[in-house]
Amino acid sequence: MCSDTELAIVVDRLRAGARTTILTGAGVSAASGVPTFRGPGGLWKRHRPEELATPEAFAKDPALVWEWYDWRRQLIAACEPNRAHAVIADWSRRYPDCRLITQNVDGLHERAGAEGVIRFHGSLWEVGCWRACAGSPHRWMDRTVPFDPLPPRCPHCDAPLRPGVVWFGEGIDASVLSRSDNATACDLFLTIGTSSLVYPAAGLVQQARQRGAFTVEINPDATPLSDGVDLVLRGRAEAVLDAIEQRLAGR
Ligand code: NAD
Ligand code: ZN
Repeated sequence: MCSDTELAIVVDRLRAGARTTILTGAGVSAASGVPTFRGPGGLWKRHRPEELATPEAFAKDPALVWEWYDWRRQLIAACEPNRAHAVIADWSRRYPDCRLITQNVDGLHERAGAEGVIRFHGSLWEVGCWRACAGSPHRWMDRTVPFDPLPPRCPHCDAPLRPGVVWFGEGIDASVLSRSDNATACDLFLTIGTSSLVYPAAGLVQQARQRGAFTVEINPDATPLSDGVDLVLRGRAEAVLDAIEQRLAGR
């Protein structure tokens, strides 16, 4: 894993009260047993996520797309947050200027007790009316697992419900974009467990760096971003964050 000297760089900044922004991706939930998109287990019935997570795929075959989301909801309902979620949740409560942006849709940061989570790509636990009918809110929480039959139906107009996630080709919610943009004004920016391939989320790190933040990547593997950050902590999120937290506690 990374060296003591490397860990100390982050520990010292956190101790000194750095305004910290954390961006997380699927790797943070890997230790909880949630498959990443690009790692092993990312394929489902020979479909690539890019083929299923689109409005076109849903329009063509809502039951197939829902089968995949329903499978992920069942899988995640049986998972627990891991040490990475726990440390991040502690920081979100301990440091008043700590902000958390996640690309994950699994809700595990919230289940670990994180506060003020900016959900960049929505939530698997929210649904919305595919027709966006006037009678229904834009999105609402529904934790039914499993849904039967598929697709679930809008209680107001009987159109299919859609998962409350942001699909490939869809825009990010304007308020989420502006909160994320604000969060790039920070002293320390940690990008954890993301392959940094999906924009605009991947651009937040560079934006933070341009605004003067010290940028750190935590990931066991190299990403397209690795050469563009100030420090790389090579290792699994749950191990690296635990090591940082132990040093913060003086152990
Ligand atoms: P990704 O699958 O593209 O990349 C995962 C990254 O995590 C890789 O760089 C990998 O090296 C790293 N990784 C693997 N194990 C790790 C560990 N233990 N600690 C730290 N890093 C680890 O995921 P992405 O970059 O988040 O982008 C995929 C998109 O898919 C996101 O927009 C997200 O919304 C969605 N997604 C979400 C979930 C989830 O909610 N848990 C799961 C899969 C995909
Ligand atoms: Zn409706």
